[in-house]
Amino acid sequence: MQFETIILGAGAAGMMCATRTGGRTVVLDHAKAPGEKIRISGGGRCNFTNMYAGPENFLSENPHFCKSALSRYTQWDFIDLVSRHGIAYHEKTLGQLFCDNSAKDIISMLRSEMQKAGAELRLETSIQKVSHDGAHFVVETEQHGKLQTLKSQNLVLATGGKSIPKMGATGLSYDIARNFGLNILPTRAGLVPFTFPDERFKPLAGTALPVHATANGTRFEEAMLFTHRGLSGPSILQISSYWNEGQAIQINMLPDADPFTALRDKRKTEGRRNTATVLRQLLPGRLADFLADEWALTGNLADQSDKALQQLADRLTHWELTPSGTEGYRTAEVTLGGIDTNALSSKTMEAKSVPGLYAIGEAVDVTGWLGGFNFQWAWSSGWAAGTAISQKS
Ligand SMILES: Cc1cc2nc3c(=O)[nH]c(=O)nc-3n(C[C@H](O)[C@H](O)[C@H](O)COP(=O)(O)OP(=O)(O)OC[C@H]3O[C@@H](n4cnc5c(N)ncnc54)[C@H](O)[C@@H]3O)c2cc1C
Repeated sequence: MQFETIILGAGAAGMMCATRTGGRTVVLDHAKAPGEKIRISGGGRCNFTNMYAGPENFLSENPHFCKSALSRYTQWDFIDLVSRHGIAYHEKTLGQLFCDNSAKDIISMLRSEMQKAGAELRLETSIQKVSHDGAHFVVETEQHGKLQTLKSQNLVLATGGKSIPKMGATGLSYDIARNFGLNILPTRAGLVPFTFPDERFKPLAGTALPVHATANGTRFEEAMLFTHRGLSGPSILQISSYWNEGQAIQINMLPDADPFTALRDKRKTEGRRNTATVLRQLLPGRLADFLADEWALTGNLADQSDKALQQLADRLTHWELTPSGTEGYRTAEVTLGGIDTNALSSKTMEAKSVPGLYAIGEAVDVTGWLGGFNFQWAWSSGWAAGTAISQKS
């Protein structure tokens, strides 16, 4: 079986690539359906891009690598595609665009574009072995017990990262890239909740508040959510990508207030109230009680010196915590690290040392923030590789 292009992975990046490479392309995936992560993303409505997407929203050993692809196929190009397919969408917050109806609309759109281009999709197909015979890439597959050997001039690695193994995520692209001599940077879970020992936040599970959260000097201003196992919510998921094992994080629980002035003013008017009770006016009740306990706050507000109030205000704005870890790939939205961008052309995503071999999407060491950026990278990198391949022939 001879193809011009074999794409491994019918996810966001692989499908976008196939819409460009078109005829004589086959897309292989071991899943029952294409784009499963698209389907479950954004609570079923897919945060498919971000109006403000730019290179500054991505993490990579080489922060310049993503610039070319992002500027050649932008969020506006994808929005245009979505609009041409009549898919209604809305901005939720911070430039994040979601489908009005269902994430399945995005999958249908990509499938129909692939079909229009003449690309073939083979599902429930496992990849047994990948090699090069000197003239072609050779991919040995198994589908419903049937073994097949496929050959192609181009091979695109688009099987994503390791996050959510239950959904079929594997490190296949890393293994193949490594076998072809490409460098793989260490991978770790990103956009993932933090865990803490002893289920210490269990009594607070479900409590959410707006915070400024900081890890490793990088700050995000969004909501934080307490869970049975630790901390989550957008601000926490964002900083998790910047956090390294063993480091402390800092939380400002009153980002829009001046707690020292607020507490000093309350001392004048509500001095006979218990300090813990006054804290309840500034924070969600369960959190105020938890902190009063944790920090052993006693006495009435009138008994607190300016110094004590300043100390309390500092604790509220610089709460320092050291997570014991993260929930890992089990729940992570993305995988950091992966195929070293130094091995790839930023314009075409082709491996510099292996002509015809391409890597796109999450498998590459480019990871976006929360908010539609990871899909934008999948669209942009998939488009770059697909366009380069289509211009070859
Ligand atoms: C719960 C969740 C919600 C998310 N929400 C958003 C969001 O709203 N916005 C956003 O921008 N990003 C979101 N993301 C991240 C986004 O889904 C990914 O970054 C994006 O899907 C990566 O695209 P990809 O094509 O590189 O990989 P994927 O979309 O993961 O596709 C990889 C494909 O390869 C296949 N595959 C893997 N291993 C093998 C193998 N060994 N053999 C054959 N096939 C294989 C898989 O079945 C899959 O179809 C979310 C992620 C998760 C987990």
